[in-house]
Amino acid sequence: MGNSSQAALAAHALAKRLSGHHIIDGRFVPAISGTTFPVINPATGKEIGCAANGSAEDVDLAVTVASKAQAAWAQTSARARGKALNECARRLAEHAEEIAQLLALETGKAIRTESRGEANLVGECFSFYGGLTSELKGETVPFDPKMLTLTQREPIGVVAAIIPWNAPLMLMALKIAPAIAAGNTVVIKSAEEAPLAVLRVIEIVNEVLPAGVANILSGDGPGCGAPLVAHPKVRKVTFTGSVDTGKYIAQAAAEKLIPVTLELGGKSPMIVMGDADLDKAVEGAVSGMRFTRQGQSCTAASRMFVHESIIDVFVEKVKAKVNAMKMGDPLDESTDIGTIISRAQFDRVHSYIQLGELVPGAQSHHLSNVPSDPAFKDGLFVQPVMFTGISNDHQLSREEIFGPVTCVIAFKDYEDVIQQANDSDFALAATIWTNNMKLAMDATQRLQAGLVQVNQNIVVQPGLSYGGLKQSGLGKEASLEAMLEHFTHKKTIIINLA
Ligand code: ADP
Ligand code: MG
Repeated sequence: MGNSSQAALAAHALAKRLSGHHIIDGRFVPAISGTTFPVINPATGKEIGCAANGSAEDVDLAVTVASKAQAAWAQTSARARGKALNECARRLAEHAEEIAQLLALETGKAIRTESRGEANLVGECFSFYGGLTSELKGETVPFDPKMLTLTQREPIGVVAAIIPWNAPLMLMALKIAPAIAAGNTVVIKSAEEAPLAVLRVIEIVNEVLPAGVANILSGDGPGCGAPLVAHPKVRKVTFTGSVDTGKYIAQAAAEKLIPVTLELGGKSPMIVMGDADLDKAVEGAVSGMRFTRQGQSCTAASRMFVHESIIDVFVEKVKAKVNAMKMGDPLDESTDIGTIISRAQFDRVHSYIQLGELVPGAQSHHLSNVPSDPAFKDGLFVQPVMFTGISNDHQLSREEIFGPVTCVIAFKDYEDVIQQANDSDFALAATIWTNNMKLAMDATQRLQAGLVQVNQNIVVQPGLSYGGLKQSGLGKEASLEAMLEHFTHKKTIIINLA
């Protein structure tokens, strides 16, 4: 038996072991209702295990536990909390490979191109915040010489972290590592489609953290997520997901007057000027569109504006690159592109592709090939599609598809392309590709986005603030600023010296 099939067997066994549990107060517990829902391998359509079906009762238990644990956790010194996070990071790194295999199994994200990198980021994120706890400091304020005035950063309390399925490990880590570092405790609600790899991460961090600091529930949005947001002891919600759910959560949080951080959708422009280094831009288009993740990324470069003088050769070169990529078994090391997450998303992506194909003058380029192996005949594989001839005002260019579908739009004029790039309901990320640095710098000033890159398109990194404007959300993640602004409040203290 090869190493990769051994790894697959181990991932299946791990999925079985984790099945049907939340982690509350450091222990595996089933849902109080006793019910579960299935977890499906999207590459085969087969059930690999199940998840506890959380409801308001489980939420109440988890939040009560987290609330009790919070007082003691906040009393732990900042340095001790940092050390604990670093020890979590060390153990997460030790187990990164098994976590990656499990992620690939439950989400269909290819092991070599996606799942392994994501699993490694979890430990990175814990060590990043583990090193920052001494930055949780306040100031002295020059208010009155007779009054010693200072500010102090304090944790908020119990934080609810509601996460999606597209990058569940990374997005969970970006939320809980800064929250816990700052002295909060957390109750996570995992996504229905990807509850297991995140559960393994929380099992590991519970070997280090005091019981009740990191709790995780599985369940659906209305039945488990909504009561979590509404629970009176939850004092902050951090959410990544769809715009509609984000707005719903913001409204529910407003009822309690608690702060929210929202990372929502994107429709990120990639501008390729006529003088760009074409091969670099083509590489950037392939990685930027996250073809290896089936385009299931908030920052996917799903609107590619390419100067009319180079658009034909650009399209041919991107086609050649994606055609050379192998779609197949997510657990196979040679696979570049795995599957779509779920049948519902699969149907949604197809409906957008059909819509695009009806646009007069549009051309669709279907790339790579779905695997022919009968073992994957029920797998949710979709050929990536590049559309040309669809304008920026069409629905396909305006709505987030969250699949491997991109519109390549020709432009003539720089002013016009900046205006088109900004003409979107979203404002998460943008890139520009040119050798004209003056123009590139102008674009960095004028593109509306939380993240603008020139001649590259790298993904979220611990240390760099990440978060969008407009319908893309509220607040920042991944940085020191994110921890300070979103997981603490500042108390002002005045001591009368007279
Ligand atoms: P999608 O359904 O397209 O994957 P969502 O934004 O609905 O995207 O899901 C992201 C996360 O939000 C998931 O964990 C989901 O269960 C959760 N969620 C969905 N609806 C609600 C809700 N009403 N309240 C709280 N959480 C929700
Ligand atoms: Mg939903």
